[in-house]
Amino acid sequence: MSTNLARRVNEMKPSASIAAKKKVTELQAAGHQIIDFTVGEPDLDTPGHVIDAAVQAMRNGETHYTATPGTPALRAAIVSKFLRENNIRYGVDNIVVGSGAKQIILSAFEATLDEGDEVIIPAPFWVSYPDMVKLYGGRPVIVTCGQADGFKLTPEALDAAITAKSRWLVLNSPNNPTGAVYTESELKGLADVLIQHPQLLVLTDDIYEHILFNDLKFTNIVQADPKLIDRTLVVNGMSKAYAMTGWRVGYGAGPVDLINAIVKLLGQSTTCASSISQAAAVAALDGKQTFVTSARAEYLRRRNRMFELLSAIPGFTVTPPDGAFYLYPCVEELIDLRTPQGQVLATDLDVSLYLLEEAKVAVLDGTAYGLSPYLRLSFATSQSAIEAGCEKIAAAVAKLRP
Ligand code: PMP
Repeated sequence: MSTNLARRVNEMKPSASIAAKKKVTELQAAGHQIIDFTVGEPDLDTPGHVIDAAVQAMRNGETHYTATPGTPALRAAIVSKFLRENNIRYGVDNIVVGSGAKQIILSAFEATLDEGDEVIIPAPFWVSYPDMVKLYGGRPVIVTCGQADGFKLTPEALDAAITAKSRWLVLNSPNNPTGAVYTESELKGLADVLIQHPQLLVLTDDIYEHILFNDLKFTNIVQADPKLIDRTLVVNGMSKAYAMTGWRVGYGAGPVDLINAIVKLLGQSTTCASSISQAAAVAALDGKQTFVTSARAEYLRRRNRMFELLSAIPGFTVTPPDGAFYLYPCVEELIDLRTPQGQVLATDLDVSLYLLEEAKVAVLDGTAYGLSPYLRLSFATSQSAIEAGCEKIAAAVAKLRP
């Protein structure tokens, strides 16, 4: 007998990257050597002083529930972070801490969406947004942003997507999966449209803020137009900047009524983020930032190498990413080609499965991210894996025939 599950759960897709990770682990357990380019997390270790702070917190007895919105120390550290790095002045009441940025985003939708409310999501997008929206009865409105526009939303496309039911615009820069980064003037262009539509909230997912190349300066929409501060939720977290994915600490900053609503929801679900992880997050935010700088330099080396190797493979059209740790090559020229086994590659999913079978290299298909035919390859992995994986991909692609 199978369990009768709720319709909203049956309609939800499992997270593509988590599903991929499971498949790679299964293949590895079965004895296959798989080079994994699906990972969505830093392979670097959490900085030592952050780990020391967690140990100290445990020794000090900081092992109990904390206040639901976060410890006073962490909320104060987040207020300082926004002032120091983004020149945005928040009070502690504008800040909520959660178990990862993911929980903050999910709770924001839970707090605000009624049946049929629309959420504008530029594609390519991080896989979780549309399913999170649907979970609370919302309707994702996907706006395709092609390679010709640098994978970025234009003011015209935003304007055309807004209806009376629009509730949120979701922005994510640097972007997962394309690495696209919005400039201040591009954000000002979007802000000019948003100002005309006061009912619209903005969620800016800044989780890749510190993984930025080419001396680009990070800017979010509140920095670009401070008038939007009262209806923007800035989401960020410890996962990517400080290699702290497993610690599960993320945060949101926004208008007090929205923050209070999120706190109310967290109070009935997780109660608070881990007390130990919160102490570690204070050390990460307030402490020396050398890790952030050295990690960025390391990602840049890997990005340059993977870009060079992939660009040399016939059938891969690659745009160099400005941030985050992914490449998002177009593989249109591989579509309709035939594998040595006689199978025709009809979609980017077929291409990714072929690479897994033939090259033993795991990548994600663009379909999951809302723009096909593309692949997503993470370079949050060692230089040697990048060298070996790209070589294997090239060899597998060379075996394809018209
Ligand atoms: N937003 C984006 C764009 C991401 O790529 C991720 C992680 N894959 C998250 C949010 C979630 O981050 P966290 O670990 O803080 O939940």
